[in-house]
Amino acid sequence: MKSSPHRHTSAQVDLEAIKNNVQKFKQHIGSKPELWAVVKANAYGHGAVPVARAVKDLVAGFCVSNLDEAIELRQALLTQPILILSGIVPETIGIAANLNLTVTAPSLAWLKLVVQESIDFSRLKIHIAVDSGMGRIGVCDAQEANEMIALADQYGIEFEGIFTHFATADEADDQKFKAQQEKFAQIIEEISRRPRYVHSTNTAAALWHTEQVQDIERLGVSMYGLNPSGKVLNLPFEIEAALSLVSELTHVKKVTKGATLGYGATYEAEQETWIGTVSIGYADGWTREMQGFHVLVDGKFCEIVGRVSMDQMMIKLDQEYPLGTTVTLIGENQGKLITATDVAEWRKTINYEVLCLISDRVERVYL
Ligand SMILES: *Cc1c(COP(=O)(O)O)cnc(C)c1O
Repeated sequence: MKSSPHRHTSAQVDLEAIKNNVQKFKQHIGSKPELWAVVKANAYGHGAVPVARAVKDLVAGFCVSNLDEAIELRQALLTQPILILSGIVPETIGIAANLNLTVTAPSLAWLKLVVQESIDFSRLKIHIAVDSGMGRIGVCDAQEANEMIALADQYGIEFEGIFTHFATADEADDQKFKAQQEKFAQIIEEISRRPRYVHSTNTAAALWHTEQVQDIERLGVSMYGLNPSGKVLNLPFEIEAALSLVSELTHVKKVTKGATLGYGATYEAEQETWIGTVSIGYADGWTREMQGFHVLVDGKFCEIVGRVSMDQMMIKLDQEYPLGTTVTLIGENQGKLITATDVAEWRKTINYEVLCLISDRVERVYL
C-alpha cells in the first residue's frame, strides 16, 4: 500500500525516545552481552530503516523476520550483522550468503535442503534454533543439533550461534519459563561445541529474568517504549513510547436528536450533538473494533461513534471545534494520554499488534 503523505493522518515517531530506551537496556543488562535490535515487521510499525539508522551505533546487530526485511536494511547501507529469526526459503540461501546475513537454522531437514544449493557456503553463518517449549521452530534435542553442526562443518558453513525463544517471559508465573531455561541449558551442555553466541532473551526475559541474558539480548518491543506484559508486570525502569498516531478534524457539524451516524446506522443521537469526522479507518489499521473507544481532542476524551469505516470515522465532541483541530488516537494531548496498550486492552489484544497493524497508508513522520 502506498503511503498518503498529503493526508491529515500520520504516525509520529520519536527516534530520540527509541535511542534513550536502548541506552537504558544497555545499562540494565550490563556490558557483557551484545544488544541486537529487533526491527522486524517494519520495526513494529515504526519504520525499519529510520529506526535501524538511529540506533546503529548503539547496538551490535539487528534481527528481522525474513529475507526481504534483511535486504531492505542492506539496501539502506546498514552493514551490521543481521540475524533472520525464521528459516528462509532454502533456494534463497545464496542471496543471504551474498549479503553477509546470518540465518536461523530451524531443523536438520532445512539444513539438508540448504546444502543442496550450489553456492559458496564460506560466507554463510547460521544460528541453530532450539525448541525448548515454544513449539514454533527449532530442534528438540542435542543430537539433532550435533548432526547440524557436523553438516555445517562439512560444507564450510559457520556455526556462529544457537538460541531459543521463551513463551512466557512476560508472565508472573515463571514455572514454564524455568522449564524452558533448564531444557535449553541442558542442550547447550550436550552440543559438540559452544558457538560464539548462545542467546535466549527477548525484551521480557531481559526485563524480568536478567540473569538469563547470555551473549546477545534480542531487544524488541520495549525499544519502542512498550511494556511486553501490557499492564501485568511493572517495568524496573521508565521507558518512553516512541509512536503517536495523530489526525485532524476534517468535518464538524451539529446533528439533531434522532440523527443516525455511519454504516448500519448503529449510533443515534439522544440530543443535539456536535460531531467531528476524522480521516482514519480500518484500512489504516484503526479497526472496526474501535467503535465505542475514545480519542483526544483539546485534552478531552471523545467517544468514537458509529461504525469505523474504511477511511473515516466520527467522534462525539463536547463543543464546536475548527477544522484542522488535532485529534490524538495514540499519544499525549494536553496532558491526557492514550497508550497503544490502552487501545490493545479495548481490542482484547496486545500492544505489539496495535502498532504492527498501523498500515503503510499512514505516513511515518520522524521527529
Ligand atoms: C520477535 C522476537 C523477539 C523480540 O521480542 P520482543 O518481545 O519484542 O522483545 C526476540 N526473539 C525472537 C525469536 C522473536 O521472534
